[in-house]
Amino acid sequence: MSQNKPAYKRILLKLSGESLLGEHPYGIDLETTKSIALQIKEIHDLNVQIAIMIGGGNIFRGIRGTEVGMDRAWADYMGLLATIINGIALQDALEREGVFTRHISAVEVKAVAEPFIRRRVIRHLEKGRVVIFSAGIGSPYFTTDTAAALRALEIKAEVILKATKVDGVYSADPLKDKTAKKYRSIKYMDVIKKGLKVMDTTAISLCKDNNLPILVFSLMKKENIKKAVLGQKVGTRVY
Ligand code: UDP
Repeated sequence: MSQNKPAYKRILLKLSGESLLGEHPYGIDLETTKSIALQIKEIHDLNVQIAIMIGGGNIFRGIRGTEVGMDRAWADYMGLLATIINGIALQDALEREGVFTRHISAVEVKAVAEPFIRRRVIRHLEKGRVVIFSAGIGSPYFTTDTAAALRALEIKAEVILKATKVDGVYSADPLKDKTAKKYRSIKYMDVIKKGLKVMDTTAISLCKDNNLPILVFSLMKKENIKKAVLGQKVGTRVY
């Protein structure tokens, strides 16, 4: 078997807003964005169909607004809009590397992104365009993790690749607890029962009910997205 044979035909990559931070405490680091774009190009060159759900935590999270008394729905809409800004940055970075993309926003912003039309999105993927989803599911009280699970199901992705700062799922926070153990694989139900911070419960439940595996791994190591796509050992598999 070729060493470069992907294990999946169609994937959904969940990128948190934080993945665009680089060394900054806030906003978008364009060098980091470029480096992520290059990693995405590498798997695109393997003919993998790629959809990305981009988060917004590097700019604004609804919960931050509520902490100072903001109305939750408005605060979440601000978070939603933050994801669109990230989507534009990622689209620009990918297209500068020669990768054709389509930016699909769940709230209408005609000037910068297309609306979500399921069949059209699938067509984009079949034509080899990288699809960037922003604005989550378009409604407050949700996260981009839940949106990732929903869209992955709608486009029939075979797996969610959840790229984070940590190299998998641990029994406790490895930065605070030296005895924390990393799981190679873990069942959806155990993630929920143990309250492990992988994705929010709504996202995990959606994946569980529809048997959609999640691969959690670190984006800090540059070859990890490719390793994950090639089916090599990386991070933790939630199944
Ligand atoms: N958000 C929302 N509905 C969605 C997705 C996101 O209201 O369907 C808002 C919510 O306020 C969230 C913010 O957008 O805090 C940014 O998304 P998220 O926190 O999931 O980003 P990430 O942690 O992946 O950077």
